[in-house]
Parts: sequence; C-alpha cells; structure tokens
Amino acid sequence: MTENGNSQREKVVIVGSGPAAWTAAIYAARAEMNPLVIEGSISRTMIPGGQLMFTTEVENYPGFKDGVDGQALMMEMKAQALRFDTRVLTEDVLEVDKDVYPFRLTTTSGIVISAEAVILATGANANWLGLHNEERLAQSGGGVSACAVCDGALPHFRDQVLAVIGGGDTAMEDALYLTKFAKEVVVVHRRDELRASKIMVERAMESDKITFAWNTVVTDVLGDDVITGLRLKDVGTGDERELAVGGLFVAIGHSPNTGFLRGVVALKDNGYVEMPMPWRTQTSVPGIFAAGDVMDDYYRQAVTAAGTGCMAALEAERWLAHGAAA
Ligand code: NAP
Repeated sequence: MTENGNSQREKVVIVGSGPAAWTAAIYAARAEMNPLVIEGSISRTMIPGGQLMFTTEVENYPGFKDGVDGQALMMEMKAQALRFDTRVLTEDVLEVDKDVYPFRLTTTSGIVISAEAVILATGANANWLGLHNEERLAQSGGGVSACAVCDGALPHFRDQVLAVIGGGDTAMEDALYLTKFAKEVVVVHRRDELRASKIMVERAMESDKITFAWNTVVTDVLGDDVITGLRLKDVGTGDERELAVGGLFVAIGHSPNTGFLRGVVALKDNGYVEMPMPWRTQTSVPGIFAAGDVMDDYYRQAVTAAGTGCMAALEAERWLAHGAAA
C-alpha cells in the first residue's frame, strides 16, 4: 500500500539483521504481520548478519551440539524468516520520524517507509584497536577475537598464553574466563590503574594465571595465518618489546548502533536504547520496540538477542491489536 504517493506502508518494520532481527521476523511473519526487514548495507566494519558474521565457531548457541559456524547460523536464521515471506531491504536507515503515525523511516537511498510498528535491532559493534593485522586476523579466524565468552573455549586457545586488552570489567571477566583454558593470561592495559569494579579487580589479582602489562599499548599484531605475538609499547618510556601469544582478546568496550536514533527514542548515557519497563521491549516511544545488543549492554549473547527479538515481535503484535494509535 502506498501513502502520500511516495512511501510504502508497512505493519511492522524490523531494522537490523542479527539474531534479534531475524527472530523478530520469524515471529512477526508467522503471526501474518508480513514484516519488512531493513538489514543494513555492507560497510568496512559491518555486514548484514551482524557480529556473528565475524565469529568462526559458535559453541554456546543451543541446538548445535558440535557448534555452528557464525555465518552459517545467521544464514539459517535469515532463511527461516524468508520461508515465512519476510521481505528484505538491503539498506541502512538514516532517519526515523517518531512524530508522525505511522512512523516514517528514511533509508540512505531515500526510500521512505511508513511503519505502524518498528522493531530496532541494529546491535552493537565491538570496539577494536584499529590495527591492520588485528582486523585481518579477526576476520580470518586467526586467533583474534572481541568475545572471550564466544571464542575462548575453542581448541586452538587451549594451554596458550593469551592476551586480553583493556582495564574494565569486561577485560577482567574475559581474563578470568580464559584462565579455565589458557596456560597464562596477560592483561595489557594502557594505564597503571584499572577501571573495573573492585571485586573484579580483586578476583583478577588473586588468580595465579593472570599477569598485567601496565602502561602498555599494542602497536602491532604478529603472525601470518594465525597470531603468534604482539608488539607492545611502554607508554612511559617508549620502549617496544614482543610478547609471544596464541590468542588476542580485545575488551575495550562496545558501541551500540544508535547514531540514527538520537532524538527518536530515549538512550542511556552509554548510547544504548533505554528500556523503561523491566521484561518489556517497548522503548520510550509506544510502538517502537528494541531487541538485542542495541538495548543490551549486559548479556550481549546471540541467544539473549534472539530471545528479546521474540519478545519484541510478540509485543508489537499485541500493541498493534490492542494499543496502537489511530
Ligand atoms: P569500559 O568500562 O568502557 O572499559 C573499557 C576499557 O578499555 C578501559 O579500561 C579503557 O581504558 C580501555 N580502552 C578503551 N579504548 C582503548 C584503546 N583504544 N586502547 C586500549 N585500551 C582502551 O568497557 P567494558 O569493560 O566493556 O564495560 C562496559 C560496561 O559494562 C561497564 O559499565 C562495566 O561495568 C559493565 N560490565 C560489567 C560486568 C560485570 O559486572 N560483571 C562485566 C562486563 C561489563 P581506560 O581505563 O584507560 O579508559
């Protein structure tokens, strides 16, 4: 259906293409809401399918006892959504107008879409150091990861010296988690003081497998097909040295993909979508829902993203049936 001559009207539009988005699409499609997924375009740091597209093996997604390739998992989720007649637009959303109803979404190529309900599932990106070899080995599955919980238990990290970069709670949690498998974990931090909470610092300090490289930054990641070491620089003296490692886990925070949502829905100080009601996916704007990593700065797992995607679709369906405006 068209509206105002130039916009296409949709019942539910899902923005994103990770586990939250495709799960929301599967539920919305099976509820005959004929969803449109705006899956995002290919950029230097992201491709449709989200963070799992950069993960080689997923061993903690239920239902795959031998693990599943991250890309294969996303392809399966998408295929399942398409099976129920989900439609897909490979574009980015540039703008969401929440002050009109139906809401109006504008894509980068200028397509305008009216949506009776919107599910935001644009995820978050791990922050990287920005080194060429870091990116290369992360994309090729060469032992560089931004998710210890996802990848740390893989066989090639066992009994190795592993490096964790960062000084926050994630870095401490990752370092502690990795001690289960590693011979030694070296936390490389750019200052001499940790940002992490006291309890996490205490736990990390107490571990006899964790050591710290203070006031130290990574200037290069070494290794052709797999990581063999790091080039480190002491920020005080400028001295450089090499550290032999069998794995690198970057834990310097995440950034939610919410740039296009400023002034649309309430965001938290850290940029994630604020969820006003516990155990609900409705944002500060009735009719606009959020699911997955874009609203979750705590769990950040594929399975939790999928769970909240399901919740968002069910909530959107109920809201459209009982609570939608005009
Ligand atoms: P974070 O608190 O922002 O810490 C990021 C760390 O990375 C900081 O130590 C920072 O150094 C370092 N860093 C940032 N950019 C860097 C760069 N380019 N090069 C080198 N180091 C860099 O992020 P987070 O640890 O992911 O935690 C995010 C939030 O989740 C926090 O609120 C945290 O408390 C929470 N969280 C809680 C738990 C838990 O309670 N179990 C677990 C995980 C996360 P500086 O310190 O020098 O800035």
